[in-house]
Amino acid sequence: MELPEVTFFDDFYFWFNTETRKEYYATPLYFYKADFHLDLDNKLRDVFYKETELTTNGLKHPASMYFPFHEKLGLMLLRFLNTDLSNFEMANRTFFYAYGFEILRDLDKNYKFELKQNYGSNEEYLKATNKIFEDLQENLIDLQQELIKAVTYIYNLDNIKELEKYTYSERFAVYLIKRMGKLYTYYKNDFIMRDSYSMKYQELGKNSEYELLDTLKNKKQVLSMSDTHKSNDLSSICYAILDELSKTPNYPIKKCQNCGMYFIPTSKVDEIYCDYLKENGKTCRDLGAFQSYTERLKQNKAMGEYRRTYQQKFMQVRKDKENKKLAKDFENWKKEAKEKINQMKKGKLTENEVYEWVLKNK
Ligand SMILES: [Zn+2]
Repeated sequence: MELPEVTFFDDFYFWFNTETRKEYYATPLYFYKADFHLDLDNKLRDVFYKETELTTNGLKHPASMYFPFHEKLGLMLLRFLNTDLSNFEMANRTFFYAYGFEILRDLDKNYKFELKQNYGSNEEYLKATNKIFEDLQENLIDLQQELIKAVTYIYNLDNIKELEKYTYSERFAVYLIKRMGKLYTYYKNDFIMRDSYSMKYQELGKNSEYELLDTLKNKKQVLSMSDTHKSNDLSSICYAILDELSKTPNYPIKKCQNCGMYFIPTSKVDEIYCDYLKENGKTCRDLGAFQSYTERLKQNKAMGEYRRTYQQKFMQVRKDKENKKLAKDFENWKKEAKEKINQMKKGKLTENEVYEWVLKNK
């Protein structure tokens, strides 16, 4: 398969190494930043620039080979689940700064935009990307909610007893087959370049024939393979990451019982607190839980009331399957409620207004 040679700076590439539990990505971010400097010590402390990661982890685009980033496997998905999409500044500071905006180019087929290679100044760059963000904000919030729903099921974050005995990949498969949520629609915009022995010449071709045969025989191993993905659709990227994660045993996504952020434990699998560094320089794991997540949830009474009502309605519909009107009402209610919550997240409605709406529409 021929790799694109001319437009290499237009697209987002990513690939995985499951043995070292790393994900790699190459973004054209730098090309269009006027005076953008990677602040490796501060803002980007969890993103690592990898200068000489050649072919050991799979086929890479020749142009991007020299500037991939690498970070913990799954971090891009986690960052997106955790990012605050209520305004551009927050979303940029916690998510887009690391990945750029190419990843939104194919998110909505009815919304096309171009990214310049040079914006001349940071102000111009921020103005242009702010517009893209605002135009796609609803899609992004919707995508985030859908992914949270999928992750909640696949990693059984609601602790449903009947689901406990199944693996992440079993739940992942059923979630897609049964078309629960919208995840099953997200696989489309992913161009996969398959890794193969044919691509190993540069890396291993210097070894003699029998050296190679013996290596394979003695180590009783297959050479690690890693496909390279090219995608400009954040939903497809998240799908591919989730696919990869669900195949990785003992590597669960969890929800921090203190701050509610999604994380993957670094040491023990049953860790209940995240280790994201917070503004006070401490992590939830450092602090222990002063205040549990459920306590915090109770304080946001609109969301609490919404969840309770949702579950009640959901159960009513399930118990009375023949009742088409009830099901239709529920669908309409869900749409309206989602809209109210989105508006609350964007600051267009207050928490109290949404709370009152939920009570009135029980
Ligand atoms: Zn936390």
